[in-house]
Amino acid sequence: MGESDAETLFERIIAREIPAEIVHETEGTLAFRDINPQAATHVLVVPKKRYRNVAELAAADPELLAEVIGAAAKVAELEGITQSGYRVVFNTELDAGQSVFHVHAHVLGGEQLGLSFGRAG
Ligand code: 5GP
Repeated sequence: MGESDAETLFERIIAREIPAEIVHETEGTLAFRDINPQAATHVLVVPKKRYRNVAELAAADPELLAEVIGAAAKVAELEGITQSGYRVVFNTELDAGQSVFHVHAHVLGGEQLGLSFGRAG
């Protein structure tokens, strides 16, 4: 996936042009299962309006960022992992492995997660 300003995959999922397993929707967000899950629960929460990354979203529209986080919490509830625990991750730019440049929260849980989330290897 490139860094261009062209439409990303997620606009096409939001437009229902590409199928995805949608688990939750709000006025401003859509949540769907990651195609390559890294945990028993792995859901992506995206704002329907595109910002490149979480920093740009935070600067431009803090209310929408709060809606994304609220939707992540709701997804955890729907998945039954509120009490067992979960991780919310925003990979931001290349060192973090961001590959789709439409900001998205990963909601990960449903099993014990690895505690190593720093340096590769
Ligand atoms: P990033 O690496 O940008 O933080 O996360 C992008 C995520 O999108 C990856 O976890 C990847 O598995 C997921 N992904 C890539 N293509 C698709 C797709 O076509 N459908 C869905 N549901 N997820 C996708």
